[in-house]
Amino acid sequence: MNQLPTSVSSTTQPGPALSLTYGYGTDRGLRRELNEDSYIAADPVFAVADGMGGHEAGEIASGLCVRALAGIPQLATGERSITASVLQQYLVRADNSIREAAGARAGTTLTGAVVVEQMGMPYWLVLNIGDSRTYRLSQGRFEQISVDHSEVQELVDAGEITAQEATVHPRRHVVTRALGTGDETEADYWLLPVEEGDRVLVCSDGLTGELADEDILRILSTVAQPQDAVDALIQAALRSGGRDNVTAIVVDASNVAHDDGAGTTAPRYSPGDTDEETLPRPLANGAVTQPLPEQAEAGAVIEGEPRR
Ligand code: MG
Repeated sequence: MNQLPTSVSSTTQPGPALSLTYGYGTDRGLRRELNEDSYIAADPVFAVADGMGGHEAGEIASGLCVRALAGIPQLATGERSITASVLQQYLVRADNSIREAAGARAGTTLTGAVVVEQMGMPYWLVLNIGDSRTYRLSQGRFEQISVDHSEVQELVDAGEITAQEATVHPRRHVVTRALGTGDETEADYWLLPVEEGDRVLVCSDGLTGELADEDILRILSTVAQPQDAVDALIQAALRSGGRDNVTAIVVDASNVAHDDGAGTTAPRYSPGDTDEETLPRPLANGAVTQPLPEQAEAGAVIEGEPRR
């Protein structure tokens, strides 16, 4: 059971506590012999890793990656105090353990959202390395938050192909950054204020390779329960061909304490920056820090096989 945070700011007013509900699932798909995706869905960390390497090496790499994240102390305490620099330390740890276990033969992507609190305000701390993706449906807007580290994304950025052409490009699966392989182990990070009713989707490319963003949005905006949405997304990917392992996590946020005028920007920052300089500064007046409800579901670190 998670411990409740006890800090309360001097300007605290009564208010509801942030509530997260989530669902998760993975499927080997219809063509692959192994499921090399891994994931962690354990408040406050929701992340998907897509292993590469074949002959179980990819499965080992993605499993080591989520296991490294599971070692972050805040998963045990329930505190929403994880920072990008802390995450980056654990990614370096994951990178090292993958190299030890598999030489340079295996790597993994990693993306996800970590729920953090700054001055009593909740934020999604989104991270990404590779081409798994984190999306957000917020206030009626559906957006891909993460930016792929892939050859086709570089071609799109250079204006050489369109995003639509990228989806069918022969080199669309070539990842330019991953953990366990290559020189670059630094993830990209984004900090976004949690808005009332936000729905975040974290998924591997087995989902986005089969479904267009419009298809994903249609399911996310019509299926109410997070677990039902996850199941519908995975089934749709399988119906579309299921050519790769497919993994999805859906997280809904409600009872978001809101401080008008705060957190309307979504700055991007790197873990090298200090929090003081780079985090958005919510107004102190009216900021609410409430003890979090007991988490109904214990942290689950699940790799490979479907949950059901
Ligand atoms: Mg994949």
